This record gives sequence, C-alpha cells and structure tokens, in this order.
Amino acid sequence: MGNKTPAICFSEPSVIADRQLALLQRHLETLQQTSPWYCELNIDRQEVRSLDDLRYLPLTSKDDLAGNNDAFRAVSPEQVVDICQTSGTTGEPVTIWQTENDLQRLALNEYLAFSATGISRRDKVLIGAALDRGFMAGLAYFFGLRRIGATSIRVGSGQPALVAEAIEKQQPNVLVGFPSLFLGLARRMQGGGLEPASCGVDKLVCIGEPVRNPDLTLSPLGAALAEAWDADIFGTYASTEMATSFTDCPSGCGGHLLPELIAVEIVDEQGAPLPAGTTGEVVVTPFGIEGTPLLRYRTGDIAALHTDPCSCGRRTPRLGPVIGRKSQMLKVRGTTLFPAAIGNVLSGIPGVVNHYLEVEQQFDLSDQLRVVVGTSDADLTAEYLASEIAGKTRVRPEVVLASPEDILQKTVRPDRRKPITFFDYRNSRQESETP
Ligand SMILES: [Zn+2]
Repeated sequence: MGNKTPAICFSEPSVIADRQLALLQRHLETLQQTSPWYCELNIDRQEVRSLDDLRYLPLTSKDDLAGNNDAFRAVSPEQVVDICQTSGTTGEPVTIWQTENDLQRLALNEYLAFSATGISRRDKVLIGAALDRGFMAGLAYFFGLRRIGATSIRVGSGQPALVAEAIEKQQPNVLVGFPSLFLGLARRMQGGGLEPASCGVDKLVCIGEPVRNPDLTLSPLGAALAEAWDADIFGTYASTEMATSFTDCPSGCGGHLLPELIAVEIVDEQGAPLPAGTTGEVVVTPFGIEGTPLLRYRTGDIAALHTDPCSCGRRTPRLGPVIGRKSQMLKVRGTTLFPAAIGNVLSGIPGVVNHYLEVEQQFDLSDQLRVVVGTSDADLTAEYLASEIAGKTRVRPEVVLASPEDILQKTVRPDRRKPITFFDYRNSRQESETP
C-alpha cells in the first residue's frame, strides 16, 4: 500500500505545509500569467508567506465561475483536449477546459487515490460511472486504473441490469460507483436468488454519496453495503471543478488530502476559516491545473477536516463525509439539518425502498418539511417513520407513504445522473440531487 504513496504524505504536518506553500506560490504566479479572471483581481502574492495566508486571498464562488465561465479559461482553444461539464447539481452547467497535462494530472490523482485503497494491478475493477455526457468521473477512474495497471470494466451507471450482467460475467473484485446503485443491485440480485456476497467483490469505492457518519463510522448505507457484498467500503469525494479526490485509506477515517495536488480549507458562512474538526463549507485550491485553474473555490459542500494522525501512517488531513450542500440546509424550529441526514435514517429502516423530500417556507426562519417514503411493506406506518427520524435528527417531519413506483416516477429523470430526491419550494429554489 505504502510504496505508491508519495513520501510527503508521511511527513510531519509542518513539512507538508511548507511544500503546499511552495505549490501555492507557484499557483498564484500561474494564475496571474494565464487566467483572465484572476489577472483582474490583482493578487499580491508577496503577501503570502505561510499556508495560513491563504485566508487573505479572494474566494471564488460557483456563481463567479458560472456567470463568467469564459474568463476562467487560462489556455488557448488549441491547447484544450477535453471539455468537461459539471453535472449541474445546483445552478447552470459549467464548462471546465482540460489540457493534455490536466488529463495526466487527473490520471495521477486517481492513481494515488485508488492506490490508497489498496487497488493494484492484480485487481479487476468495474467502473459504474459515466464516461460520456462531459462527465469527468468515469474518465478519471479509467485513467487512474490504467496507470495502476488494473483491469477496467467500463459499464457506466445508467443501466443496473448491465451492471449485474457484467458482475456475473466478468467477476470484478472491486466496484466503483454510486453506493445507492450498488445497494439497489444487491437487493435485486438477492430477489433473483443470487447472493452478492458470494460474487467475489472485496472492495467498494463509493462516489457521490457519503458512506460514513460525521463520526467516521459507516453510515446505515455504508453498513448495508458492507453486509450485502461482504466487502470493505471506501468513500471518495471529488468534483469536476477541483479535479482531485479525497479517498479513504483502509483505516476508513475520512478521505486523505493529496498534498501535491490540492489545498483545502473549511470556512464558515462569512468565508472565515474554521479550526480542525469543525463542520463548515469545503473550499479548495487545486494545484497544477492549466485549463481552468481555480483559487479558493467554494464547493458548497459541508464537511469537517480531521488533522489528528491516521493509523495508516499518513500525516495528511482527512476530509470527513459531506453531510450536505450549503444551499440545501434546512432550518426547522431552531434545528439545522441537511436532507441527507433524513435519507441516512431512512436507508437504515428495513422496508423503505426510496423517498423524496419537499420543503416549503412555513414562516420566517422555519421550514416545513414533508418526507414521502416509498414502501410495499404494509406494516410500516408514517407515525413510526416520523418518530424514527425525530429520534435521530431532532426534527419531526410530516411523513407520507407512497408506492416505490410513485417515488421513481417523481425522482428519476433521464437527463440526470442521480435521482432527484429534494424538492425545494423555498424562495422558488429548484429541486436537486442530495449528495
Ligand atoms: Zn489513513
């Protein structure tokens, strides 16, 4: 495991910070030379004398990037070899331009991330993520596995029946993709008399949805996956804009930072840095990107950073699970929570097949929450589900029961890669996927 990990990952935090400072200074120089957006900002890089000085540099919001997209392209059109589009989870789609070096960097990133989970050239890996429609994820996974020398089986995420078929026929021992896809698949296989635990899958690398609780233990979804597949569960967090992954090591204590590729901060609502262990918005500064370089990019994702040493020996900080998106934060009678917390409770209740959430403004500062749960289990009652949610989140929503088919009809759209499970009617905001 350790031989593919750069030595810097095992160095003292002060050594890592020094290395990141050098990378940041080089990054600022590049931004000033190549990025129309950052040239305008007149950043004085002489003022940056320590990694902590990152806090004095300007933040970049999703709105900055979406509203001035072209100003973020830092290379000539001839240098662009690939165009990515963000999945448009919230707001309008954004273009990310990539050069040949950016693709090499993406390969290195995923090589390091997958290596941290213990994947080697002996592994056969099913990629349950899309390579088409301008998505970056499937491309990055394929490049990373190719660099490791592992075998890729590129099935995509669109058709569960194809994924099941590939598992039976090609017998991968690692699955990479959305955890809910792999749980649904396991349930389907069990329904058909096939035991997923006997398929020889020993690792699941889970993308897009967290598989850990904020205390880093496996979430109900993660635990259900571990049991159904009898496999080790690894979380990984990434986004198209950052083009960098935070991936669990075998200790399963959060996604390790790759110090040569990215700097990370956690900030409060005003953008001020928060101390280690505190939950806030994830802000990233990816290094070494040519096409669409970014500085202090506000991801809108809410998580905490852990800096105590990990038992794997790495000294790099670890990012905890994303507990929600900033724009989806719910405030119900003084309690703050995210839709994912409710999804988390429901995924641990037998008989619950699927669900979606609707929220409306009830009165100033309090939201009215309705949870529509899909089940065919006649013994499940709305009352029971509401009290389970209340017991674990301190918020008691209205619960309505429906058939799983009704839920699918409302949540699955052919143009979205994940089901839409959150419908936000506050301030005429839009529906979106829960992370
Ligand atoms: Zn570790």
